[in-house]
Formats: sequence, C-alpha cells, structure tokens
Amino acid sequence: ILKVENLSKNYKMGEVTVKALDNASFEVSKGEFIVILGPSGSGKSTLLNIMGGMDTPSSGNVYFNNELLTTMNDKGLTQYRRNKIGFVFQFYNLMASLTARENVELATEICEESIDIEDVIESVGLKDRIDHFPSQMSGGEQQRVAIARAVAKNPQILLCDEPTGALDFETGISILKVLKDVNIKYKNTIVVITHNSPIAQMADKVIKMRSGKIIEIIENKNPIEPERIEW
Ligand code: ATP
Ligand code: MG
Repeated sequence: ILKVENLSKNYKMGEVTVKALDNASFEVSKGEFIVILGPSGSGKSTLLNIMGGMDTPSSGNVYFNNELLTTMNDKGLTQYRRNKIGFVFQFYNLMASLTARENVELATEICEESIDIEDVIESVGLKDRIDHFPSQMSGGEQQRVAIARAVAKNPQILLCDEPTGALDFETGISILKVLKDVNIKYKNTIVVITHNSPIAQMADKVIKMRSGKIIEIIENKNPIEPERIEW
C-alpha cells in the first residue's frame, strides 16, 4: 500500500547538516501492523511525517498505491492527508469544548468517507463516555477518543507517533489493544512508532532505526496479543 524508496531528509543548521533520515527503503503491505523502533533522535517521526504527507523529503520517493506522493501538489497532499491517512499522536489534541462524539464528528465533516461514529466509539471501548468532555476523561480515555477520531474517517493507513508515550504501563497496553482491535475490525494498515522495544512483539513487521538509518527489518510470523507481551 506504501513504498518508501531511498528516502533522505537533511536539516541544515548553519554550518552543520543533520541527516534526520538517511536512505530509508521499505514497503508496507495492506492490513499490516508495523512497529518502527529506535532511540530518540533516530528519525522515526521524520519518517512518519513524510509517509503521512506532512513533510517532504530532501530526496527519495514515497508511493501510495503506486501513486508518487513526493511530487504531488499541495492540493493532492491535502486530499491524501485528509482522506487516506489517520494520525494519532502522543498528546491527544482533542477540542476541550467538544464531547467525545463531537470531536469525532468534527474530524469526519471534511472527509470523503466516514463510518458510523457510535460504532467506532464503541469499538474503542468508550460507549459510556460518548457525551463526556475531555476534561472529564482520563489520559487513556482521551487517547481512545483520538483513535476513534482518526479511524472514523475510514483511513487506509493509521500513523501513530508514540501513542502510549504519555500513559502509564497498564493504560499503554490497553491502547495497544485498541489499535490491534481496530486493525482487525476495520482492516486499516497501522504504523506505530515507539522507543519501547517490547511492543515490537505484537507487530507483523518491525523496522529498526538508528541515526536516521534503517538498520534492520524483521518480519514477525507470530505476532502476539498486546497483553501477552513480555516486558
Ligand atoms: P524521538 O523518539 O525523540 O521522538 P525521533 O526518532 O522521532 O525521536 P526525529 O524527530 O525524527 O527523531 O528527529 C531526527 C533528527 O532530526 C534529530 O536529530 C532532530 O534533532 C532532527 N530534526 C527533526 N526535525 C527537525 C527540524 N524541523 N529542524 C532541524 N532538525 C530537526
Ligand atoms: Mg519522534
């Protein structure tokens, strides 16, 4: 569904050039659950942002279903971000003045497609919180709303940048479970960034990064359920 080819991103800071991403290549198949693993500063977010059409590379190509993203105009990229990709971040960025349901509704209003909002909110385990405001919810519950918001527009790919980063251990596992459930129920392709290496045990494919480079790609024949991860 996505092909990344010799992707590089350099940042010029005065005299020095930071190679945030250095010649990265890999493929994402439809329906796959992928984990991108690497220490802080290894280029994970840079890679995800380019895959999501939020940033452009210095060189290299990204293909979405054989369509070249990296030469797309702004209008094309906006359509891509809006209709094909769902984003989940470490911080939930919910609208404080809107309930869970309204946060999800708002996100679907500008999209081509949307799926039943109550169904999505129930799928992330928030049926009894649907009319609550963010301030009335825990961090884990707010992250579930953020996942529902991303999934409700029926994106082909869900890109998650450290979705458990702000949560305690148990809540983090419950969020990983939600993502796995979504992957199975709605058949979205899911890419999760983390620097928490045990999480890789639940992935179909693990991409390991160091200093902007992909150092290893591991196909996992037997991914396990999040609650059975050995920490
Ligand atoms: P973390 O786990 O801390 O989120 P990361 O793996 O996501 O790290 P990136 O955010 O992709 O890492 O950053 C990769 C490198 O690129 C880092 O050295 C960072 O300082 C640099 N970098 C990222 N964005 C910019 C920017 N806008 N301007 C300059 N340098 C940047
Ligand atoms: Mg990052």
